[in-house]
Amino acid sequence: MVLSRDQLIDDLDDAILIITKDGLIEFANKQASRLCGDRQLNGRTLIEAFIDDRLAQSILDCVAKGGEQSDSIVLPGFSSPLNRDLGRSDSAWSLCVSPYKDSSGVEHGWYRVIMRDATESYNTDQVRRDFVANASHELRTPLAIISGYLENLLDDDLVEDTELARRFMGKMRKHSDRMARLVDEMLMLSRMESGIAQNISAEEFYLIECIDDVRERLSSIIVEQKAKLKVEVADDLLIIADRFYLTQVLFNLIENALKQNRNEKVRVVVSAGYDNGSVAIKVTDNGIGIPANDIPFIFRRFYRVEKHHNRDQVAGTGLGLSIVKRAVEAHGGEISVNSQPGLETCFTMRLPWVQKSAEKSD
Ligand code: ADP
Repeated sequence: MVLSRDQLIDDLDDAILIITKDGLIEFANKQASRLCGDRQLNGRTLIEAFIDDRLAQSILDCVAKGGEQSDSIVLPGFSSPLNRDLGRSDSAWSLCVSPYKDSSGVEHGWYRVIMRDATESYNTDQVRRDFVANASHELRTPLAIISGYLENLLDDDLVEDTELARRFMGKMRKHSDRMARLVDEMLMLSRMESGIAQNISAEEFYLIECIDDVRERLSSIIVEQKAKLKVEVADDLLIIADRFYLTQVLFNLIENALKQNRNEKVRVVVSAGYDNGSVAIKVTDNGIGIPANDIPFIFRRFYRVEKHHNRDQVAGTGLGLSIVKRAVEAHGGEISVNSQPGLETCFTMRLPWVQKSAEKSD
């Protein structure tokens, strides 16, 4: 098979242009034309070729600096060269511009421009940047409250007033507990996202054992809230999963049902059964529910339904459901939610592998 050089250049994923010092395009590979709506680019200027002048300008700046230069640029969706494909989202581009030399190493006043679509890694970085910003914000709030109380106690010399000091310390403890929980949950999330959860250590056990464990950990809240926790799970329902993560998932779901309904004497039902080669586990409550507009976002990190939280409450971390989702997905399962506020809110997770355990238990 003989491949022509042009074909090789056309098949590259990168867009390649050869331009003059003034930005006149002498050559464009297929990918470059594709970026510009399959237009013929030879003989046009960069300014004519790209919808957004910033892209052309960035290339011309690199040319003006001389030698090999690189730059990166983020364009809003409406002005991206890939506008049609990307819809309204931003696109990121990495540029490498260098004087073009022929095979004998001679420069002819032409420049080679390599444009690489860096949108995917830009989006990944953006998620990371958002996470750091959100995490810092979430930690800063309780920290500021604790410093405020300490300042009151020490600077205003209120320590002598034991009753007041005790009250302030109680508040500080509440907020330091919140910080500790945030850090624990962030660590758990980061462990899962770094792939460790892919090596979850699955074992076979009775689901009821996990539920009993969670019930015990939440027993004081259940009693305090006069809530009812009904378990409709057969004692011999076997499951293959990571016991630690599954317990955490059930804890987060049941705790949510309780803590979102502090004054409601809520009724929480946990049920499970084999269903078409998987096990379906449901956590249902009859509390305030989740408004339809919020449903698409509740598995996102740090997302909370604003109107559920009044100022006196220490809000949740907003990480619980993202941990749940990642843990369920790490098991190859899926989770969904249906909510009719005030009537029924039901989280359903389906975990595979039950076929195996069902066969074993036969
Ligand atoms: P949080 O730490 O705030 O509980 P989650 O990620 O666990 O964070 O939940 C996100 C949001 O989803 C909660 O803040 C709450 O507003 C809403 N939510 C979750 N479960 C329920 C439920 N059973 N009933 C009502 N709202 C819920």
